[in-house]
Amino acid sequence: MGLAPRNLRSAIAVFMAIEIMVVAMVFGMVLLIFPDPWAVMHLCVISGLVISAPVVGLLLAMLRHQSILQDKLAELATTDMLTGLPNRRAFLRAVAPEGQFVRAGLLVLADADHFKKINDTYGHDVGDACLRAIAGVLRLSLSDKDIVARYGGEEFALFYDGASLSHLEALEREICGPISVGAASEGIASPEGLIVTLSAGAFPIDAGQQSIDAYREADRALYRAKMEGRARLVAARPGSTFLSA
Ligand code: GH3
Ligand code: MG
Ligand code: MG
Repeated sequence: MGLAPRNLRSAIAVFMAIEIMVVAMVFGMVLLIFPDPWAVMHLCVISGLVISAPVVGLLLAMLRHQSILQDKLAELATTDMLTGLPNRRAFLRAVAPEGQFVRAGLLVLADADHFKKINDTYGHDVGDACLRAIAGVLRLSLSDKDIVARYGGEEFALFYDGASLSHLEALEREICGPISVGAASEGIASPEGLIVTLSAGAFPIDAGQQSIDAYREADRALYRAKMEGRARLVAARPGSTFLSA
């Protein structure tokens, strides 16, 4: 329907306009019968307010509810619900909104080791607890301008703003060390001392670097880290060479 109000704000405006028209019409009609215009006007205004106050209140409450829903939708579109981390879309929007990195730094792709085996052995809930534990450890490795995202499945992407290959060793200690999973504390039956590790691939970024190329290079380094035995950080360098932490 073309005349239907498109949102609550316009619904309130339409309601108020109709209300004013009705009050004006009633005022005109009653004026024909009763001679005292001030008394009639007061009567019309007071009765108009009494009728409209609860309706406007209701519409305002609905407006607030609609804005809360919109915020929630925006959050769902950019957040991974399992870990609470930003998702791939939010990550790319933050570091390379136009397909090119905005700032220099270090791109790292980290992938959980033998994760299928963890799922197969202990169940999917324990696997989920591992992903949350990993997210917690990766968050701790960040400083103010850095960002971590769940890139998909058991893979995470990180951007360390301003970092370079000289930070490899320290980063490896922070993100590739054994991560113990406190699954019991989440009410999930899992064996004591369950440990998960990450393999990671890094690629140094200059501002203006194409994100698709950088991702490919970091992924190449990640593959190398898996081949070299997992639980380690390897960087790809131009010319198809690698640098281990
Ligand atoms: P690799 O060390 O070579 O990376 O081996 P992998 O077993 O980690 O890799 P693979 O790709 O064979 O398996 C990844 C597994 O991650 C399979 C998939 O079911 C699991 N996975 C992906 N997303 C989730 C999730 O949200 N929750 C759980 N529990 N498992 C997930
Ligand atoms: Mg994977
Ligand atoms: Mg894996």
